[in-house]
Amino acid sequence: MEHYELLSLQRLNAPYAQDIKDAISRVIDSGWYLRGQETERFENEMSAYLQVGHVVGVANGLDALRLIFKAYIEMGQLQHGDEVIVPANTFIASVLAITDCGLIPRLIDPDATTHNLDFTLAEQSITPHTRAILLVHLYGQACWDNDFIERCRKRGLLIIEDNAQALGAKIPDGRYTGTLGDAAATSFYPGKNLGAMGDAGMVTTHNEQLAMMVRALGNYGGHKRYVYNHQGLNSRIDEMQAAVLRVKLPGLHDANERRSELAELYTSGINNPFITTPTLPQERQSHVWHQYVIRTPHREAFMQYMSDNGIETGIHYPIPPHKQGAYLSYCDTSLPITEQLAREVVSIPIAPYLSDDDVHYIITVINRFEYK
Ligand SMILES: *Cc1c(COP(=O)(O)O)cnc(C)c1O
Repeated sequence: MEHYELLSLQRLNAPYAQDIKDAISRVIDSGWYLRGQETERFENEMSAYLQVGHVVGVANGLDALRLIFKAYIEMGQLQHGDEVIVPANTFIASVLAITDCGLIPRLIDPDATTHNLDFTLAEQSITPHTRAILLVHLYGQACWDNDFIERCRKRGLLIIEDNAQALGAKIPDGRYTGTLGDAAATSFYPGKNLGAMGDAGMVTTHNEQLAMMVRALGNYGGHKRYVYNHQGLNSRIDEMQAAVLRVKLPGLHDANERRSELAELYTSGINNPFITTPTLPQERQSHVWHQYVIRTPHREAFMQYMSDNGIETGIHYPIPPHKQGAYLSYCDTSLPITEQLAREVVSIPIAPYLSDDDVHYIITVINRFEYK
């Protein structure tokens, strides 16, 4: 029987393996492991790719978010106790970054179709305490609405992007996610569309002052060794990860295109009444399909059936942040769409190494699923 993992990191990295080994050897031999040439080149290449003024490599995606909030606090643009609107169906790291910085997450239900921010509800949820919106480009789909953003900006709100899942996605005017708001956080966790061989992340922004503050805060709070103007963290990308990412960045565009092709095959091929497929975006480039997430009210039976047929599936995410032990004070918050999605979503394999035949096989299996 065929066997499909939800994601094979080995297969994902196979096309780059030799070049990655060479790059890592180069770093080992250089004798320089942090804050060196690889990092500088990576940041420059990424800023050229995204067309963004500033890229700061950091230790991981969660830290990228924490450093953005912390920098705005240091700069006096956010204060402890300020509210940040965030979609409630996000990965918990989005919320952890907010609370870690002494800010208050205002969790709101997403749009039931796009699974992304519900712009109308977001606007209704703004209070005098709201200071920022954390946009999450969930599953790789650009979350943006010019009119909504315009109105937020008029009210003085910061627009921060959680771009962990969407590197390479663009909005219709051609700008990349991660360059749209005031600042953005991206993760290079190994399973992300551009994955390192370990943890890594970055902050991107057009704001030089913010970039400098993030860089200082990620380096114990100072630009120069032994001179510290802020109470910082240690959160830097290391030379090995920067070198790995430099090898893989030129392949990102094609890898994302391939994900789109596979998503199109899935959405046109799956026609099982028990399954709801995600709708394809109007503009192909606005979704990079970090996950292909379907819905079914019979999730447990479906996942078991898929597993019996050699196809691994996953859930992103089974327990929303407000139902986690980490956030007991939020557990009475009513977020019906978030809770329904948490019960019904299933992720099926999507990765650039899958062939059309692989996907046709998976579609055939899915279309044969019955709930009795
Ligand atoms: C992966 C992810 C993060 C966290 O990134 P790490 O590099 O794992 O710390 C944050 N937000 C979202 C939406 C993510 O998917």
